[in-house]
Amino acid sequence: MPATKAYAAHTATTPLEPWTLDRRTPKPHDVAIEILYCGVCHSDLHFARNEWGMTVFPVVPGHEIVGRVTAVGDHVKKFKVGDLAGIGCLVDSCRECDNCKEGLEQYCSGGAVFSYNGYERDGSGITYGGYSKAIVANEDFVLHISDKLDLAATAPLLCAGITTYSPLRHWKVGKGMKVGILGLGGLGHMGVKFAVSMGAEVTMLSHSPSKEADAKRLGAHKFILTSNEEQAKSVTGYFDFILDTVSAPHDYNFYLGMLRTNGVMVCVGVPPEPAALHPISLIFGRKSLGGSLIGGIPETQEMLDYCAEHNIVSDIEMIRMDQINEAYERLLKSDVKYRFVIDMASL
Ligand code: NAP
Ligand code: ZN
Ligand code: ZN
Repeated sequence: MPATKAYAAHTATTPLEPWTLDRRTPKPHDVAIEILYCGVCHSDLHFARNEWGMTVFPVVPGHEIVGRVTAVGDHVKKFKVGDLAGIGCLVDSCRECDNCKEGLEQYCSGGAVFSYNGYERDGSGITYGGYSKAIVANEDFVLHISDKLDLAATAPLLCAGITTYSPLRHWKVGKGMKVGILGLGGLGHMGVKFAVSMGAEVTMLSHSPSKEADAKRLGAHKFILTSNEEQAKSVTGYFDFILDTVSAPHDYNFYLGMLRTNGVMVCVGVPPEPAALHPISLIFGRKSLGGSLIGGIPETQEMLDYCAEHNIVSDIEMIRMDQINEAYERLLKSDVKYRFVIDMASL
């Protein structure tokens, strides 16, 4: 394949800049995709700045990828040239372990291969993500995208969508349940949309007073400003389920106090620092604290189909590729409504 334009971070402290990479020539089971849009996940920023201490530079972030198929290998059955296609956080896994067999490739015990900063299973090197003009991946990890939905607004479903849909499904969120969504950013706004569509009573827990009207517009039934003591107190012992999407350090004990007896709080946000958890926060009220990583390929397709059926997409702000560094600064200020999506025509 010809050299492919991309944007990369070369160190943790320098801005992303134009870069060129080589994508492989499609193998028999590969699909080549011209990337049209790529969402900007807060994980991209964590990786570009090596906040989790595992980045291999240069890194090309981006795992909310949508575009059109430009070539297929000889044995590809799922796609043909011209089809819409999507790639999320995963591009390969062992396919043999119990997790893979269950469609939980994200927990592959042989080592899931992530779309960027991942190690290809054949030893051919590091993976590069969606801040680029094209990508090649095995068809088993490529998703079908409906032409009924706005394509750019569909991109964030590939990470923000599945990361919130999966735990809501796993913990059987639905009618009669009181659900709190903590943090109104890319993940949080999808969490609100899904939890509302599943029939739950949904409360937005936010530290940004300016987001109340948007939370209601997105479907939230209530809004709690977490820094307001009285408002926070009013939901003590209230929720059956809290989905924590916060990207920055915060006090888990404080939010566990908002769960009722047997309540569950699930972390999907990954702050750079470990947090102090007091067991008493769990013991009084037999509460549980869990975690969840994106979702497997079958569930990602199920979520995309669910979105097409229920007309659910992300609320996006389109940016050019050269605005990415500015977008990262805005993410850090919780100033995103509610997902940046890069128009790859600008690269
Ligand atoms: P985002 O768009 O930046 O949203 C994060 C939200 O967290 C902000 O909008 C803000 O909401 C809240 N927040 C930020 N700083 C805060 C603070 N100091 N105190 C309290 N709340 C704060 O980020 P995102 O893309 O949704 O990602 C969120 C987190 O999930 C990141 O850590 C990301 O790496 C992680 N993630 C995990 C998975 C997974 O599989 N588990 C997948 C994708 C992303 P308010 O203004 O409403 O308070
Ligand atoms: Zn992500
Ligand atoms: Zn596996």
